[in-house]
Amino acid sequence: MRKLFIIKTLLCFLLLVSLPSGDFLAAGGKGNYPWPIKAPFAIGNLYHTVLTEPYPYFHHGVDLLARPFTNVYSVSDGDAQLFLDPDDTNHRSGVVVYEDNGLVWLYLHLKPSSITTKLDWMSNRRARVKRGELLGIVAGQIPTFPHLHLELWNYHRPVNPMLYLKPLKDTKKPEIGRIHFYKNNSDERMKPGTAGLPVLYGDVDIVAEVRDWIPPSPYTLTPYRIDYRVEPLDEDSEARGFRNRPYRFDTLPGLDKLPMPRNYWGIDPYLLELKGKVFSIFKFSSDSQTYSHFTRRKRRYFYILTNSMKGKISEEKGYWNTDRKRRGKAVYPDGRYRITVSAYDYAGNKGEKSVDVLVENEESSSESDD
Ligand SMILES: [Zn+2]
Repeated sequence: MRKLFIIKTLLCFLLLVSLPSGDFLAAGGKGNYPWPIKAPFAIGNLYHTVLTEPYPYFHHGVDLLARPFTNVYSVSDGDAQLFLDPDDTNHRSGVVVYEDNGLVWLYLHLKPSSITTKLDWMSNRRARVKRGELLGIVAGQIPTFPHLHLELWNYHRPVNPMLYLKPLKDTKKPEIGRIHFYKNNSDERMKPGTAGLPVLYGDVDIVAEVRDWIPPSPYTLTPYRIDYRVEPLDEDSEARGFRNRPYRFDTLPGLDKLPMPRNYWGIDPYLLELKGKVFSIFKFSSDSQTYSHFTRRKRRYFYILTNSMKGKISEEKGYWNTDRKRRGKAVYPDGRYRITVSAYDYAGNKGEKSVDVLVENEESSSESDD
């Protein structure tokens, strides 16, 4: 018996260790936790979806759209405790479940009176719950968007629950919409020239509209990973292309640099810090709006791809330096280039789109030399 327990514990440990670092795209997801709501449910927001209300911030949970009063079950064994927001303006009542392995699950927007009577409202003592045990029902106070907000914490930091939950069936690939070019860190668009191709010069921000769906959710969602590459098109070009993997949303940007909150009531400091990063990743401007309101199903997400180099995010330093010189020679000589953007979802579906551009720097620099 004891041997079996040790083996089981070891297996669980190995599984958990392999989870965040493994390549989920190749495997199409490895998570083994059951979903807390039995079908049908739909994903309304992902872990890294940017929401603009009441201010732009990264959502650090997963929203499961379900009818009001739908049963919510614990995805794990653990010690459960009531989660009560004293103001409850956002109906943030629910249950916290502490697993023995350090993972903590947070189930929010439960109808307070439905929460299991095991949890004592007066003493707020913890009580043991089993995987699959009923915790409560989805509240009906948010009529436009009844949902369960599910969060996962590991060693006092929020982590991406999508990597731990069983993979969802999803055959719809991410879609890449328009690809824009801006002067670095500005709203100045680089417009098409006489050849019909966008004319790029100086420090360029590449901005791509990327969206995804997980059927049957009607909500446009954000992808899991975005890559892009730049290749010279002219046959005699001496330029070498490059690749960048700017965003992979296992962690929220900048999260590692923040002090740990003391408890799960300390979530808001995260929101306040992370909302500062939103504008480094997402482009908001008059013709490229990102709508993320609960009542709006068609939301648009414009990512500033150049503002991140392998996950290091900087609005100031991030750009494609098209007039970069090495030993007096242009690294990207004037000519045609192809930019290809790839986006992946959790199931490994890949969407791709290319756009050709014209780099034109030489003329302006020779003018200044005269
Ligand atoms: Zn939520």
